[in-house]
Amino acid sequence: MGLSLRRFAASFFSFLTLTFALSAQLKQDAPPATAILGFSPSHAAAEHQLESTFQSIPSPEKAREWHGAFTAEPHPAASDRNNQLADFLADAWRKQGWEDVTLRRYDVLHSRPRSVFLEMIAPVQFTAALREDAYEVDPDMNNPAVSGSYFGYSASGDVTAEVVYAHSGNPEDYDRLRKNGISVKGKIVLARYSNPYSYRGFKALTAEREGAAALLIYSDPAEDGSTRGKVFPDGPWGPESHIQRGAITYDYIVPGDPTTPGWASVPGAKHIAPEEARSLPKILALPLSWCDAKPLLENMDGPEVPLDWRGALPITYRFTGAVKVHVKVDMDTSMQPYTVVEARIRGSELPDEWVLLGNHRDAWVYGGVDPSSGTASMVELTRSLGELKHRGIRPRRTIVVCSWDGEEYALTGSTEWGEQFADELKKKLVAYLNVDESVAGAATTAGSEGLSFSPSAVASLAPMLVEASKDVHAPSGKSLYEAWRATAMRDAKASTPPLDSALVETRIGSGSDHTVFLNHLGRPVINLGFTGDYGVYHSMYDDHYWMLHIGDPAFEYHVALTRIWGVVALRLANADLLPFDFGFNASALEQFLRELEQKNKIEQRRLSLKRLHLRIAEFEKAGELLRNAVARDLLSSTVSPEKIQRLNEQLLRVESNWLDPAGIPGRPWFQHLLYSSRYTYAHLEFPGLTEAVEKQDWKLAGDQAGLLEKAVEKNTRFLKSAQSSWEKNKQ
Ligand SMILES: [Zn+2]
Repeated sequence: MGLSLRRFAASFFSFLTLTFALSAQLKQDAPPATAILGFSPSHAAAEHQLESTFQSIPSPEKAREWHGAFTAEPHPAASDRNNQLADFLADAWRKQGWEDVTLRRYDVLHSRPRSVFLEMIAPVQFTAALREDAYEVDPDMNNPAVSGSYFGYSASGDVTAEVVYAHSGNPEDYDRLRKNGISVKGKIVLARYSNPYSYRGFKALTAEREGAAALLIYSDPAEDGSTRGKVFPDGPWGPESHIQRGAITYDYIVPGDPTTPGWASVPGAKHIAPEEARSLPKILALPLSWCDAKPLLENMDGPEVPLDWRGALPITYRFTGAVKVHVKVDMDTSMQPYTVVEARIRGSELPDEWVLLGNHRDAWVYGGVDPSSGTASMVELTRSLGELKHRGIRPRRTIVVCSWDGEEYALTGSTEWGEQFADELKKKLVAYLNVDESVAGAATTAGSEGLSFSPSAVASLAPMLVEASKDVHAPSGKSLYEAWRATAMRDAKASTPPLDSALVETRIGSGSDHTVFLNHLGRPVINLGFTGDYGVYHSMYDDHYWMLHIGDPAFEYHVALTRIWGVVALRLANADLLPFDFGFNASALEQFLRELEQKNKIEQRRLSLKRLHLRIAEFEKAGELLRNAVARDLLSSTVSPEKIQRLNEQLLRVESNWLDPAGIPGRPWFQHLLYSSRYTYAHLEFPGLTEAVEKQDWKLAGDQAGLLEKAVEKNTRFLKSAQSSWEKNKQ
């Protein structure tokens, strides 16, 4: 997955227009030019030197080689090829000098197609190809290992019924159908990807709840095809036969192996019956290219749809009428082994504090962008960090790296691994740095400003990420920071660049491997990647050819991503004081709360959030006071390492305090009080409170606001006591 993350970036630009200024909080009191957040002056100088050595190592040629190796064959989860790549990677990491290289096995309920079939039986006969067309320029097009159309975890079945067009297949679309007197009960729903964006697994649950017999989702050229620009092999967008595969798991309820909700699928673990799994769909579903969907749409003879339901095909879009389809899906749903590959470079001073790097290995087909662009950047990063170790430079904290498996199915590998090592991770994990797609865009169509750098991060780590971007070069030769500001301004069609405080997206949805670490374990996360024009997501055309000729021909964005990923990892691993900024964190919370109030027009007599505002203001104050007190002392370089370490331990616990072990209402696995995601995968802040407000359940909303007040108050106390013990023990 990964695309979903990118789609939500749109909401971040609304942030730019708000007058609520946070920029002052990113400024230090006239720091020396070489200062780094969390470093004493002498350590900052050494860190700069180490980082410039590090940044000289990654090479575009090597990144291209890694990319070629990982995309040489289709490698979906549980395939022989994906398992061979686990061994290949373990071997590469050993050769690069990484330690404790380990293959972790999980036995999980997997899903793959035995056979799929779709034909229109009325008013005319038509058999869908359910395959993608080959283009001769690309040598990877005729590989028999390329799958046809299917959705992971679709139900099996054989259905013949009338077809109803349901626009994007979101709940409001079914309301519209009802208003037009149309029911989808027992019918086959034809929906499209996606306008506005919603995760296909949410469309599946919605169709299931509406009583549809089957769901077909097709790629309309309006969304990711010719309407957007040139299509493959001439451009980055999807050609007529491209199919967006994917899973439709209800992993927004609980991710990971559907038969081990909340615990790890280690060999021998207890599994629940598939019928009891809340995350398994009961509906039969299939993705279609637009050339397979067009005959169905154009043969309808019912009432025309309104303007905003029309796609870009040269036909009259209709709600329903005359079209009958026979669809048959036979899925092999069986236990299969997944493999997470794990390695580390043990820290020289603090081996029990971990900075975790990760990327998933499994791809729907070749995975040119998703995920092998991220894999290529990752293996260049591990090679570079291995090279530093070879030169005698070891990080102070331990750096752990993982190659996840089965991310595409239910975020499975990272979830099982996170559940297996939950206790240890809650104590030791400083932060998780995820890269799914490192280059999800076409440099060849990006214009002079280049691809957009579009990271997301928990607010407490946003300032250090902005700072790190100033010391990395973008492919344009500018600093990544300047390139980031320029592309953010371009993408928002703004006339001035955004404030530093608005650069990082601090609203984090689901859709990739950061989910277990943030939402279940309460650890801080950062997602990194470049984005731009990209319309071949989860299709056969997302391959090495696409990247080599359209995406990143020079592999310079791959390497830029390696550099920023590495610099952030090294700063977190080497910092004297962990660079969490809770003052900034608090100002983001205040922002989230104001947005919640504005969007829902909450009446004071229904729900008062006054106390929560106050608690957040106190938290902000405490965060600022602590930051300033510590920054002053750190500049003087007279603080003992023991004292710094005591404070680090306290800072790590602040992030854990956002967890509520009871979880959010209805979804106990999601325990973070500040962050969750909607069923659509969209970001969702203050999840328990927001969902209660949206349901207008004011009693529950009051309880949820109370929980938040308590958590914020607890963390304010924490910061205050950290500050007073810092100031008491001057050494
Ligand atoms: Zn992905």
